Amino acid sequence: MYLYNSATHKKEEFRTHTPGHVEMYTCGPTVYHFAHIGNLRSYIMEDVLEKYLRYTGYDVNRVMNITDVGHLSSDADTGEDKMVKGAKREHKSVLEIAQYYTDAFFEDCRKLNIKRPDVVQPATGCIDEYIKIVSALLEKGYAYSAGGNVYFDSSKLSRYYVFNDHDEEDLAVGVREGVEEDTNKRNKNDFVLWFTKSKFEDQALKWDSPWGVGYPGWHIECSGISMKYNGEYLDLHCGGVDNAFPHHTNEIAQSESYLGHPWCAQWFHVHHLNTSGGKMSKSKGEFLTVSLLEEKGYDPLAYRYFCLQSHYRKALVFSYENLDNAVAAYQKLISRIAALVPGDGEVDTAVFEAYRTKFNQQMGNDLNTSMGVTSIFDVLKAQTNDATKLALIGDFDAVLSLGLLEKAAAKRTAEKTPAKTTGGYTVTGEGDSAIDALVFQRYEAKKAKNFGEADRIREELRAQGIEITDTKDGASWARA
Ligand code: AMP
Ligand code: ZN
Repeated sequence: MYLYNSATHKKEEFRTHTPGHVEMYTCGPTVYHFAHIGNLRSYIMEDVLEKYLRYTGYDVNRVMNITDVGHLSSDADTGEDKMVKGAKREHKSVLEIAQYYTDAFFEDCRKLNIKRPDVVQPATGCIDEYIKIVSALLEKGYAYSAGGNVYFDSSKLSRYYVFNDHDEEDLAVGVREGVEEDTNKRNKNDFVLWFTKSKFEDQALKWDSPWGVGYPGWHIECSGISMKYNGEYLDLHCGGVDNAFPHHTNEIAQSESYLGHPWCAQWFHVHHLNTSGGKMSKSKGEFLTVSLLEEKGYDPLAYRYFCLQSHYRKALVFSYENLDNAVAAYQKLISRIAALVPGDGEVDTAVFEAYRTKFNQQMGNDLNTSMGVTSIFDVLKAQTNDATKLALIGDFDAVLSLGLLEKAAAKRTAEKTPAKTTGGYTVTGEGDSAIDALVFQRYEAKKAKNFGEADRIREELRAQGIEITDTKDGASWARA
């Protein structure tokens, strides 16, 4: 597969440290609120990437953290603690908030067919890891204590900006947001590894450390959790594009300084879901969640379809109009699949392989999901039998996870069993109104005590392989 690597700014052939095996890490949610559908765009695309790697035969170990401590509202070391803010808002403890929104996040993932990573680790569960890394960084001279906190010393690195050349202005995050700068920092891009001198008096979660009671910075949690579960060589690290700086930049700085060798080979950044007013965020405009979409009558998988229609490296603009267009296309696709007849012929292996190769080429080209979706339409148009088409669609959907075969099967069943009620008598069958009419005639004959005629109709249908079963409020019929 060829995948764009944000660290090298190139599309590269995907390679792993151990052949056939991928160590993959994903920055998980900060569980102080519901995930918005922008956050979930990132998780959908990362899910497709993981599934595609498995599809091509890789064995994948995917690790995700849950940020339940240390994430400040500016993404740097300024602003409010997001978890404390969430707890205050809801008059609950930080742990209650974390549990509630972690569960809500995985419920959203379930609705969107996002697979749960192999390892899910709340940040509060790995304090010893962070202490081990911070101690080693201090020992190696990459970190310093100031004003009670421990900071990473970015001046010790020959190259700090691994993803981009940032302007000085970009770094003044605190200044830009009108929050005070941390005067303990020796260099502008130094960052906190461990807070002991919390500016949050009400910081709920604190642990003992060699530097006093305190809590970890946000960035150290991803390095610590990844090293614990992925090992020292990470093949693939994912997150939304806003994570590249400062979060991933700082992860690289501290991990490589600690390990003394390159850490993560490949960086996958999903671009933002925007509204017409700019980047979607929890504090701006309508707070778009999966539940809100459901309340408005949208199937969460139609949102997944909407995301797959565009490339992960392009910003995607959300509007209800755009979503409605995706819904129409998704429903059309399901109808066309429902019109295929399962068990119609044997799977044609040559055709199957040819279309599978095409799909593989599209997806292997920097995860071109919109072309992946187009491949399904190509299969529907193919000169082959329905069994081959259904097998191909099932195969592609192992990666795309749009629930295509399940939804098509449900549609077929629903169409087969329309209930027809006449004069209080309900006939259910397999979608043939001529037969429904005969079943109803049998009922009228019985009502008129013309049992001979009623039996004749039953026999006539039986001769066609149709069996009638009387029900509480009518009858149902089925082909044997
Ligand atoms: P958070 O819960 O804020 O830590 O973010 C969870 C994930 O969503 C991270 O990978 C972010 O980079 C990503 N993210 C945040 N906002 C957006 C957005 N508008 N579109 C896509 N991804 C986003
Ligand atoms: Zn992270």
